[in-house]
Amino acid sequence: MEGRRVAVGWAARDPAGVLSPYSFTLRDMGPGDVMLRVLYCGLDHTDVHQMRNEIHMTIYPLVPGHEVVGEVMEAGKDVEGRFKVGDIVGVGCIVGSCGECICCKSNREQYCSKMVFTYNGIDVDGQPTRGGFASTMIVHHKFVVHIPKKLAPEQAAPLLCAGVTAYSPLKHFCGEEKGLKGGVLGLGGVGHVGVLIAKAMGHHVTVISSSNKKREEALEHLGADAYIVSNDAREMDGAVGSLDFILDTIPAVHSINSYLSLLKPDGKLLIVGVAPQDLQVSTTALILGRKTIAGSFIGSIADTQEVLNFWEEKELKSMIETVKMDYVNKAVERMEKNDVRYRFVLDVHGSDLS
Ligand code: NAP
Ligand code: ZN
Repeated sequence: MEGRRVAVGWAARDPAGVLSPYSFTLRDMGPGDVMLRVLYCGLDHTDVHQMRNEIHMTIYPLVPGHEVVGEVMEAGKDVEGRFKVGDIVGVGCIVGSCGECICCKSNREQYCSKMVFTYNGIDVDGQPTRGGFASTMIVHHKFVVHIPKKLAPEQAAPLLCAGVTAYSPLKHFCGEEKGLKGGVLGLGGVGHVGVLIAKAMGHHVTVISSSNKKREEALEHLGADAYIVSNDAREMDGAVGSLDFILDTIPAVHSINSYLSLLKPDGKLLIVGVAPQDLQVSTTALILGRKTIAGSFIGSIADTQEVLNFWEEKELKSMIETVKMDYVNKAVERMEKNDVRYRFVLDVHGSDLS
């Protein structure tokens, strides 16, 4: 224990999910590790699912946060040449994998059966991993990415989970094709970067939202081409059979059959939103039109670096609201009420964490 560093952060203690100050000891630095001072961390809906044990795997106390932007404070000897003190770096959803399986060897380590979550996983020392709602983290360099120079660190935060979650399936399922007609279902953290990325990839993008409230922003600020309100039968009917793909980001139980009807034959419903209960599928809605329902989990570390570089190259800008840590419980409440445009980013380094 001697010489180990203490980190200060905020943790949830039980399924009520309320966050409050919490301090803990960091593991020892290994030769392949970097220690980073957390600067900013995004608040993702998955954090809320985890804080409340809605995925039934939470270990309390839980220090969430997996859209972490930090500054390197220390780098182990094996990290030389990759990262140095002072570099601005990012950590996303995972901090470990076996390194040997077929997934790990083919840049799909997010699907490794031994993958370790950035928080609520088991670290190399047997202790729970803790995320970016804390002052400091120690992470193996393989799971750390470079934040491109032109990106403001707070702007980069949402890309480390939301960004790559949208980018990876679009790249995997749509490849190099351009000019596809795509839908983004749910305009939240993941959805809004999904619109920006799909547009920058050259697709025609329709936002499918639960209300009319985000219409102007979607069309004018995010550059979407069309906007449909999902409970407006006339608008939905007008779009039947028109889309090549839909990126489904809804974090709740919803009827996917009506969205399947919006797809063209051979269209794909790409599910990334986590529904707390099972969804129902009409087999005929799927069969008639040879439609595909696919899932996708974040993206690889290589995809994460790629989306950051893509973002810089295309000069994209996420829409975020930056808040201090003592606002985090309010931020969760507002996110649940769908009252954020479009991602809360915690100014961790600028907050009093005690
Ligand atoms: P978010 O910011 O809360 O956005 C979700 C959006 O979905 C809302 O803005 C809202 O958009 C819509 N929505 C919310 N509740 C709804 C309901 N009951 N019925 C219909 N629409 C609803 O959440 P997020 O951070 O983007 O995360 C979205 C989901 O993706 C979560 O389940 C999260 O756990 C999951 N996720 C998955 C991965 C992955 O790797 N697969 C990675 C990150 C996040 P409108 O106002 O436009 O309707
Ligand atoms: Zn593996």
